[in-house]
Amino acid sequence: MGTPFFSPPAVKPNSTDIFGFDEVPPTASGIFNAYQMVPLNGYRDVDISTGGEPFVVFSRAPDIAQVLESKTGVPAPDKGLAFRNPAPSVKVTIRNQGMEGLTEVVIMKLLDGAVTSTLAVSAKTPKPLTFKVFTLEDSLRNVGQQERPTSIDLGRLKTSLEDVKKIYLNQANVVLTQQFPLESLSIEGDLGDPIMLEDKGALINGKRDQAPLNFFEERFKSSPVRFNIVLSWEFLQNKRERKSIGGLAPQPGNVCIINPFIVDYAFLTQRIAHEMMHSLGAGHVTPTSGFLMTVDEINSNWRMTRANIDLANPSGMLVVVDPRFL
Ligand SMILES: [Zn+2]
Repeated sequence: MGTPFFSPPAVKPNSTDIFGFDEVPPTASGIFNAYQMVPLNGYRDVDISTGGEPFVVFSRAPDIAQVLESKTGVPAPDKGLAFRNPAPSVKVTIRNQGMEGLTEVVIMKLLDGAVTSTLAVSAKTPKPLTFKVFTLEDSLRNVGQQERPTSIDLGRLKTSLEDVKKIYLNQANVVLTQQFPLESLSIEGDLGDPIMLEDKGALINGKRDQAPLNFFEERFKSSPVRFNIVLSWEFLQNKRERKSIGGLAPQPGNVCIINPFIVDYAFLTQRIAHEMMHSLGAGHVTPTSGFLMTVDEINSNWRMTRANIDLANPSGMLVVVDPRFL
């Protein structure tokens, strides 16, 4: 017999079908704790891996997270859905019916009533955020036309931005809206190639007293747009840090510097979504692979952690517990 626990439906890496499910390994007590964002008035399918163990699954607050038998869509009664002879993997649906908040869905063994897994469910209202995209030029270089081996691939950029929107919507119920049109950010001077973002010395509008990154922060300081995405040619953090980087964003802040060149569409999507999360104030995550905020682009994918989701959209964090189940 196994230990029934919640698991996300299987999806390909770098898929926008990741539904804000934060997988957490079992705690010292042996209980699996996971987290699932459910949009207000929406639903999410969740798998339960059972190993054949009979179990019951119930919600502590059905107004926030109603458990449905996924084949029939029939709601679970108050005491939950019982699976007496389950398949190795069972699918259930968690539905919200309009009440914002945080509650818990619980798996209990039928045999002895032991809790084996909990799913914190956060029912979130839509959170609107805006972004705008800029191309960078200085008077020596034109990012779109000269000097570069390739100009910015606007088709690829558009596809990436569409997927960035899906990542934030599916996982955090954040509704990203692009402010049009694409604008050119022109500087009289010489930003350098590569640009040393944190070093003073570049010629910016006749002066050399400001590091490029400070210039960008200053430029967008009172911007009404939440994320200003600046597409730049190659840059480094500074002269000491020679490692090439694909993006940089003050944390928190409202400007993301992105290198859109020599990356495929999936990496470009990753770069933009990752830097936006830094802009919201998030750092890197400890898991060395498999998350949006994994430090190394090669080992990352598009999955947000619970902390990322709650940071991007703080609604649905109010704890509501149904006293019937205490
Ligand atoms: Zn980062």
